[in-house]
Amino acid sequence: MDRTLAADLARLPELLDATRDAAAAALAALDARPVVPGAAAPPPTPPLPEHGSGTEAALAAFAERWAPRLSASAGPRYLGFVTGGATPAALAGDWLTAAHDQNSNSALDGGGQDLERETVTWLRDLFHLSAAHTGTFVSGATMSNTTGLAIAREWLGERLGVSPAEDGAAALGPVRVLSGAPHSSIAKALSVLGLGRAALVPVPTLPGREAVDPAALDRALADAPGRPAVVVANAGTVNTVDFDDLRAIAALRERHDFWLHTDAAFGAFAALSPAHAHLTAGLDASDSICVDLHKWLNVPYDSAVQFTRRRDLQARVFQNAAAYLGPLGDDPDLVHLTPENSHRLRALAAWFTLHAYGREGHREIVERDIACARSLGESLTADPYFTVLAPVRLNVVCFTLADTPTPARLTALREAAGPEVFVTPTTYGGTPALRAAFSNWRTTQADVRRAAQALHTAAKELG
Ligand SMILES: *Cc1c(COP(=O)(O)O)cnc(C)c1O
Repeated sequence: MDRTLAADLARLPELLDATRDAAAAALAALDARPVVPGAAAPPPTPPLPEHGSGTEAALAAFAERWAPRLSASAGPRYLGFVTGGATPAALAGDWLTAAHDQNSNSALDGGGQDLERETVTWLRDLFHLSAAHTGTFVSGATMSNTTGLAIAREWLGERLGVSPAEDGAAALGPVRVLSGAPHSSIAKALSVLGLGRAALVPVPTLPGREAVDPAALDRALADAPGRPAVVVANAGTVNTVDFDDLRAIAALRERHDFWLHTDAAFGAFAALSPAHAHLTAGLDASDSICVDLHKWLNVPYDSAVQFTRRRDLQARVFQNAAAYLGPLGDDPDLVHLTPENSHRLRALAAWFTLHAYGREGHREIVERDIACARSLGESLTADPYFTVLAPVRLNVVCFTLADTPTPARLTALREAAGPEVFVTPTTYGGTPALRAAFSNWRTTQADVRRAAQALHTAAKELG
């Protein structure tokens, strides 16, 4: 064994303590440090070490060269994109995931895949889904959407009497994927799946909304009679967290033949709040569902779940026949269900946080974040420097400068507010705008006040 490696092995508990101290210090500093550090050129890259200097020296080099350049995205005022943190239990689960270093994807291994199945059962319950749905863990909502649409592709084949998994996507002929305001990852998934970005057929949304117009969807489906289609419903758009009427869409199946995939990446968490659960009514009728976990469940990156009612088709797409792997059977090994073969025991962080805080603990996080979004919306509405562009339906505030909201001025505003609060740019109804998304378990009303003050001060300085 390499001498440095042997020395690290001899003092492993001590090194884990030192790592724990570094992690605790980073988390303790979250509140006081800039949310995003000012733009600085990356440090020069030293040559690859011929002889390493051990874990302790690596910790010191990371602390000096890289840690200060990372954002405080685990903290309470990082409101960009839709970004969760990591609850204490989720963090503990993630550490142990690495310590156990499992590749639990088949029955040949230990109980890891059973732990994943248990976690999926809890998640199904959390989102009020029926036992008709099975689920698998993937790395994020993009991969969950891709997996769901891969199953949809195989379903189209089933309707047309071909198998894209065997014969290729071309066997389907032209495919139509209809959606009102799909997330960008849907087009990416269609590109990856060989269906093509051009397969996406935009369907008009309701006036002043990002929710699809069910009557327009009805007409668009009628445009190609006799051809099965795919509908992507959106349960929580990123700009204004608008929800398609899932029940109205599902009802269209009486007259049209389509696979219903619902992108509920973070919107699914509305189901945890009794006052907002109606937004996800009908979710269970979907044939496949995408839910992100590294957003509002507050587990570390990278984690999402993919639910489907057609695990048989899922296995047809993703089966990995090899001499050393078992047959598919009724309950296929995980290796046969997702794009990856090897994967980490990703479910453990979710298992920890669900075990530690339960439905109630996670309901409290979701409702607090919603209340924070409401408060920021009210502050910005009352602030003459800002215009709020859409009602705050759930956990996102979509707003812009009242005076001359050019992209350049919004960038200047974001940079000036950057040490205190991080928000991300968008365009809404043709207007350059900003989004503040609340999904971190640490965020409180005190953070909302700091964010509103920082945005106000930055806008005032901008003039
Ligand atoms: C975030 C998001 C995605 C993509 O999620 P990743 O985890 O970044 O892959 C897809 N759809 C919606 C609605 C999202 O909010």
